[in-house]
Amino acid sequence: MERWAEQELHGWGRHPRLPAEVARPERRREVRAALADRGGKPLLAHGLGRSYGDAALIDGGRVVLTRRLDKMLDFDPITGWVRVEAGVTLKALIETFLPRGFWPPVVAGTWFVTVGGAIASDIHGKNHHADGTFADHVRRVEILTASGEIVTCDAETEPELFWATVGGMGLTGVILAADVKLRPVHNAYFEVESLRVANLDHFFEVSADSAHFTHTVTWLDSLATGDAMGRGIFMRGRHAEPGAEPTGGALAKLAAKLSPLLDVPLDLPDWLMNSFTMRLFNEGFYHKHPKGVVRGVQHFAPYFFPLDFIRNWNRGYGSRGLLQYQLVVPRDPEHRVIREILGAVSGAGMPSFLTVFKEFGDSTHPWLSFPRPGVTLALDFPNMGSGVHHLFDRLDGLVADAGGRVYLTKDARLPRETFRRMYPDWTEWRAARDRWDPDHVFQSALGQRLGLSGD
Ligand SMILES: Cc1cc2nc3c(=O)[nH]c(=O)nc-3n(C[C@H](O)[C@H](O)[C@H](O)COP(=O)(O)OP(=O)(O)OC[C@H]3O[C@@H](n4cnc5c(N)ncnc54)[C@H](O)[C@@H]3O)c2cc1C
Repeated sequence: MERWAEQELHGWGRHPRLPAEVARPERRREVRAALADRGGKPLLAHGLGRSYGDAALIDGGRVVLTRRLDKMLDFDPITGWVRVEAGVTLKALIETFLPRGFWPPVVAGTWFVTVGGAIASDIHGKNHHADGTFADHVRRVEILTASGEIVTCDAETEPELFWATVGGMGLTGVILAADVKLRPVHNAYFEVESLRVANLDHFFEVSADSAHFTHTVTWLDSLATGDAMGRGIFMRGRHAEPGAEPTGGALAKLAAKLSPLLDVPLDLPDWLMNSFTMRLFNEGFYHKHPKGVVRGVQHFAPYFFPLDFIRNWNRGYGSRGLLQYQLVVPRDPEHRVIREILGAVSGAGMPSFLTVFKEFGDSTHPWLSFPRPGVTLALDFPNMGSGVHHLFDRLDGLVADAGGRVYLTKDARLPRETFRRMYPDWTEWRAARDRWDPDHVFQSALGQRLGLSGD
């Protein structure tokens, strides 16, 4: 393994950017050596850096880049269980196992996510209501703990370490490998329906009627107000039956063949993502969708990973980067909380470029894992100074008062006290972590900010 090299790291939001000393181990003994050789500095694992804020960063600490821990170790074609090193990506899982008739149980909105990152953030997908989170499909997670011991854990064996690691944002150790249960599929296609939802009430009606679809998600017009508040395009789907062929004309077929090719090579000018262009985008996608239900069969890539078609699209938010705010709040009968939240967003006059809305199912995991029953909303904003921070502060209050929480893997600025209100079980997580890492060897900028480590 080469020695530590200095590097500035950032997450997908490109804010903040923090210096670290990084190593790129290829073998688990090199990860152990990195732990032993950390010179008293805090250590942290870093996958593909698709967390948005400071979860995978540690100012002046030592960072283990896991992407070369990318070996597939074992596969059972009868059951679909695959054992992989933690740096294996969703992309590699799909490219390797889809030709064999298998698909990862849960995928994010990008396939540039490592298995280690998927467990540490306990990621969810469009199928949360049907299949839960990534950790629902994982066993035998091997973790290099602070003592230097490699511990194998899951919901049955060493469950405390397992649940502290699921959603634990890298603060319990370095995940080295895990068993993931892939699901059998017939082909690379997805049966999809999309329809306009006119407002929030309509959204909840359609969502209730769509429980038999394994995957649902809605793109919302975050600027719509009054009777139109909550309007958007509801998309629902399921893996296609045998013999399905993509529909939708030449463009869809071309999209299916394209690998993610386009690139945003330089920062786009900051003015590009202004409220005028975002208003056009928000209204445009709603009005462009035909009335009625549009049915089709799509290749998985444009369905699951549309943003991956434009590499480095985060640069489109300009030099100051982007901030995402993803929240979940429990459902209330009048949808009062989500109305207040959408009202705060539209009232702030700061349109979110991509606004994603979905009902979570009942699957929850202890402590720091994000999903809870209710509705989740993800908003993207260019990092345009104090306005967006004031809006986030206001949203924090609404979310915490409602018993909701924000997703730590998307966060770059949540205040410590608000975090503690949103994640009231954090003390139990800390007690578990302290048993495995009493000296807080594993730290991150997010952990320090939220008071999870370093105190
Ligand atoms: C376009 C886009 C769409 C997304 N869509 C979704 C979505 O639909 N659902 C969702 O849940 N998330 C989504 N995400 C977030 C993403 O799935 C998570 O942030 C994920 O953790 C990123 O994986 P990574 O390998 O890049 O990890 P990183 O960003 O590098 O790290 C994330 C956290 O995991 C820890 N970590 C990484 N590897 C290890 C390891 N081997 N051992 C221990 N800890 C480790 C890090 O310390 C850090 O705390 C999206 C992100 C992007 C950019």
